Amino acid sequence: MTISQRWQAVMMPNYGTPPLALDHGQGVRVWDVDGNSYLDFVGGIAVSSLGHAHPALVAAVTEQVGRLAHTSNLAIHEPGVRLAEKLVELLDLPARVFFANSGAEANECALKLARLAGRAQGRAEIVSCHDSFHGRTFGALSVTGNAAKREPFAPLPGPVTFVDYGDAAALRRAVGPRTAAVIVEPTLGEGGVIAPPAGFLAAARSICDDGGALLIVDEVQSGIGRTGSWFATQAEGVRPDVITLAKGLGGGLPIGACLGVGAAGELFAPGDHGSTFGGNPVSCAAALAVLATIADDGLLDNVKRVGEHLARRLDALDSPLVAETRGSGLWRAVGLTGPHASAVEAAARRRGLLVNAVKPTALRLAPPLVLTEAEVDEAAPMLAAALHEVAAATAEDGADA
Ligand code: PLP
Repeated sequence: MTISQRWQAVMMPNYGTPPLALDHGQGVRVWDVDGNSYLDFVGGIAVSSLGHAHPALVAAVTEQVGRLAHTSNLAIHEPGVRLAEKLVELLDLPARVFFANSGAEANECALKLARLAGRAQGRAEIVSCHDSFHGRTFGALSVTGNAAKREPFAPLPGPVTFVDYGDAAALRRAVGPRTAAVIVEPTLGEGGVIAPPAGFLAAARSICDDGGALLIVDEVQSGIGRTGSWFATQAEGVRPDVITLAKGLGGGLPIGACLGVGAAGELFAPGDHGSTFGGNPVSCAAALAVLATIADDGLLDNVKRVGEHLARRLDALDSPLVAETRGSGLWRAVGLTGPHASAVEAAARRRGLLVNAVKPTALRLAPPLVLTEAEVDEAAPMLAAALHEVAAATAEDGADA
């Protein structure tokens, strides 16, 4: 039996069968179980910020797991405190931190903070955006704007109101005396790397100020350098009340964080929230290594510089299938003229390049932050050839029809 057949025999069918069985990685490259190598422009969906097997990450995790792997929340440990200090320092706002294991869990914490903040005034409603993605747990799912993911699991916690992403006027109309919080991504990640009109986050800030609601910014995908800033909100000069992180923070080790700014960081009383594994020493050591490497190796600048190079190479793709390219930093999408993303993803993979069909009409690229221009130059012809192959097949299908 192949590993794929074994997978199908034993795993729940919630993912479909992934087309790739990976064995190991090094830098921006991964190898499958048959020894084929790929340039990894997916990065475990915007997670492997330092690439694969980065020596700093390996050393930090190895050292910590050999010293103390777990304490639960019944004991304090140095990596956890240091990581919280570091995140508050990077956010450059007075804040307090809760550590979770994932993005969804970080958002659960944010939603519970919103409940507490609104309790005295009877504010329980959350306003979110259509096409947003905030996670698969019941709370995070309830505010996820993708109806296909949400509806099979109704009834979900509420009340939740959805407005069109980027529509500040609609957001203003939706926020009222019952609103506890607005939750928003700085750019839709799972929605296809779609940025809102300029000024939308700032508008959300002032709408929350006027309406007495918390502004929760979900930086699970955008945070920790993905756009060339530590946090996307910083580049926009917007102060969130709550910010959630995960994905790239641990560089592959599971960790999420919820930061409450000012009064939002003071809402929990002992016993209000918790996690057995959240902020465990090994994940915190990994996150510290990620943050130190981003700072020491100038990776924010690298993201900007190599991201611009990537944008230029994507803009130069000469294919009838490409409708537009978009994104910032090392977080890009190629918008397609039709639902060809899965076919292009597969064709690119056959050529040794991993990209992600985030939507039927969009390919997402979220490579490690250590990506070089040379790796972009290696990947670009593979993507061009994949587009060419699918365009030819599409034209043939059209001729057959
Ligand atoms: N929030 C955003 C913006 C995300 O992109 C994701 C995952 O894609 C999540 C939350 C959920 O994160 P996790 O899968 O770690 O629970």
